[in-house]
Amino acid sequence: MTDFNMQVGEIQIVALTDMNLVYPTPLDELWPRVPPADWDRYRESFPDTFEGASHMRIEIGCYLVRSAGKTILIDTGYGDGPFENLGGVRGELMADLVSNKIDPAEVDTVFMSHLHVDHVGWNTREVDGQWVPTFPNARYVAHEADLAHFRKPEVQANARYPYMERYVEPLVKAGLFDTLGDEADLTPDVKAFLTPGHTPGHMSVLLASSGERAVIQGDVLIHPAQVTEAEWTPLFDNDADVAIRTRRRLLDEWESEGMPIISCHFPAPGLGRVVRYEGRRYWQVGL
Ligand SMILES: [Zn+2]
Repeated sequence: MTDFNMQVGEIQIVALTDMNLVYPTPLDELWPRVPPADWDRYRESFPDTFEGASHMRIEIGCYLVRSAGKTILIDTGYGDGPFENLGGVRGELMADLVSNKIDPAEVDTVFMSHLHVDHVGWNTREVDGQWVPTFPNARYVAHEADLAHFRKPEVQANARYPYMERYVEPLVKAGLFDTLGDEADLTPDVKAFLTPGHTPGHMSVLLASSGERAVIQGDVLIHPAQVTEAEWTPLFDNDADVAIRTRRRLLDEWESEGMPIISCHFPAPGLGRVVRYEGRRYWQVGL
C-alpha cells in the first residue's frame, strides 16, 4: 500500500501500488548486456531494487491523476492473479484504491503507457467466466502501434498466458478501447506522447499546470541505474537501439529542466529527478 499525494499546479497525483516483487528472472538474463558485477555500483544507492546477489526487486506502480474534472488511471498493474510465474502473488491495486478512497466508477480514462502484461492486468476482471471492465465508466486508451503489435500471433506466442485475450480484447470488442496517435491530450493539462523503444507504441505523460511540470515516464527507465547507464537495456526493450535513443533524448531534457519524474517500476512512489554529479547523471530520489 502506498500513501502518497503530489500536486503539479492544479493536477493531483495519487501513487498506487499493485505489487512489489522479486522478479523471478535473474539479473544476468533480464539484462543480458550488463555484466553482473556492474550492478554493484548501484546497490548502495538503490538497495530496495535488489534481492540478494542475483535478482531485482521491482515495484508495479500505477498512478491516479485528477485534472480538469477528469480522473485518469495510468497503468493497471498485473491484475488479480494469483500468478504462478511470479510465485503465486496477487495484485493489490483494487485494495489500494479502496485505502485511498477511490471508487473504480470515478475513473473516466484508463491510460496504458504500453500493452505489456504488467500494465494492463486490472483492465478487466473475470466474472462468471467472462472478462468484464473493472472500471465501468472508463474509456481505455493506448497507442495504436502497441495494439497492432501485441495482437500479432507471433508476439502473443511469447506471452506466458493469453493476457491480451483477458485484459484488452474484451474492451476492444465492447467498443471501450480507443487508440491514440503520437500525441494525445488526456485533459488540457495532461498530454501523452510517444516514447518508443520499450514497445513500438510506448507513451509517457507530461503533466503541466500553473507553470509546474512533471513526467510520468512509463518504462523508458525500469531501474534507476539507467539514468546513469542509458545504454543498459533490459530483455523487455522491444527495440534496444530505439529505446536507448529515446532514453538519451529524454534524460537530456529532464536533466536540463530539473523536472520531477515519476517512475512506476522504481521503489514507491517512484518520484525523483535526474541530477548531474562529477560529470555523470544520477537518479535522485524525491524532490
Ligand atoms: Zn513494465
